[in-house]
Amino acid sequence: MKIQSPRGTEDLLPEVTYKWHLIEDKLKNLATLYNYKEIRTPMFEHTELFQRGVGETTDIVQKEMYTFEDRSGRSLTLRPEGTASVVRSYVQHKMHGNTNQPSKLYYMGPMFRYERPQQGRTRQFHQFGIEAIGSEDPAIDAEVIAFAMGCFTELGLKSLKLVINSIGDEESRKSHREALINHFTPVKNELCDDCNERLEKNPLRLLDCKVDQGHEAMKTAPSILDYLNDESKQYFEDVKAHLDEMGIDYVVDDKLVRGLDYYTHTAFEIMSEAEGFGSITTLMGGGRYNGLVQDLGGPEISGIGFAFGVERLLMALEAEGIDLKADDSMDCFIISIGEKTKTFTSKLLYQLRKEGIRADQDYLNRKLKGQFKQAERLNAKLAMIVGENELENGVINIKNLNTGDEKAVQLDETIPYIQSQLEEEIE
Ligand code: AMP
Repeated sequence: MKIQSPRGTEDLLPEVTYKWHLIEDKLKNLATLYNYKEIRTPMFEHTELFQRGVGETTDIVQKEMYTFEDRSGRSLTLRPEGTASVVRSYVQHKMHGNTNQPSKLYYMGPMFRYERPQQGRTRQFHQFGIEAIGSEDPAIDAEVIAFAMGCFTELGLKSLKLVINSIGDEESRKSHREALINHFTPVKNELCDDCNERLEKNPLRLLDCKVDQGHEAMKTAPSILDYLNDESKQYFEDVKAHLDEMGIDYVVDDKLVRGLDYYTHTAFEIMSEAEGFGSITTLMGGGRYNGLVQDLGGPEISGIGFAFGVERLLMALEAEGIDLKADDSMDCFIISIGEKTKTFTSKLLYQLRKEGIRADQDYLNRKLKGQFKQAERLNAKLAMIVGENELENGVINIKNLNTGDEKAVQLDETIPYIQSQLEEEIE
């Protein structure tokens, strides 16, 4: 039996990896523009990190983690998201002690969740995310949101919806929490089991219940925005003022909540509104958190970040008909005629590549015509034709495959000649 890739995973073949490179380059450039530096954390962590950092009551921790024991009996988990690891690393390396504050970090890489695979949802997916830790200035909330939008608009996406909300500070959340309990308790028998559990543990999460979405009590649920204290209200107003000034469009949705206890103030999401995007329209989620750094053993410092799946970004590009062009050209293809030329062409190829010239040769003993065909297939700009005679005379024919011009070039002149031909191309 042939072994297939595990359910919910995907091979990224050369036909698509160029798109990933383009996207990754774009995101790295954006990070440089915004002054965020890359952090790479391990693919697996102690299970406890996610239990504490993502939260015991979340679906991720309850149902979706790839947890295993290593040979020494430690419980480890493949990372389901990035924030917990970044904050763990921030605390472990005492980044709060660096003079350069706030700490502005980005990460990119695979995440693992045991979910039911479907369009836009896989068990291994790739996130790009950022965390700005160590500042509670509404300006940085706006910066993070602008960066998040930039990840999509810079690639040409247009049908986007930015939704923002505030879930206030601890005090505001506490009064909202009480209001939610008072609101939902009388109808709790009509709600799903999960909601009943949430009502006890984390009532805010009732608001993102998929099962009871249509229940009348959901529609009339108390809005967090009515429970914000003056400070929280002001904070939200300031974030919006920054976005307004930057000209970034958004809608406020008071139902947008991030369920975890440590989320505070700003929460945001970006959705694709492109037709044919599919049923899961969320591209990205983000928000401010307070208490996470402390929970993981650090000082009382808050942060804000976002994460999105690169696969969803690719889906959005496809839905909007945006084609990322591959640069699949080749500078030079060496065509060899005769047995004796092979070691010479291998050396030549090695030299070309050392000079930064993208080059290749035939490895299938193709006939002359077949080698020209291969040069064409590879979109080579130049072909070097090396025969035994040419070798003896110390002259190589170089053909410009775009213009058809061919020239006999002295052996020691070949590299400068090729370079000049390629420069002409660029001009
Ligand atoms: P979350 O960490 O759940 O807030 O997810 C943030 C983003 O990661 C989502 O908006 C998606 O773009 C992406 N994402 C989350 N889970 C998956 C998954 N199973 N498959 C693909 N992308 C995902």
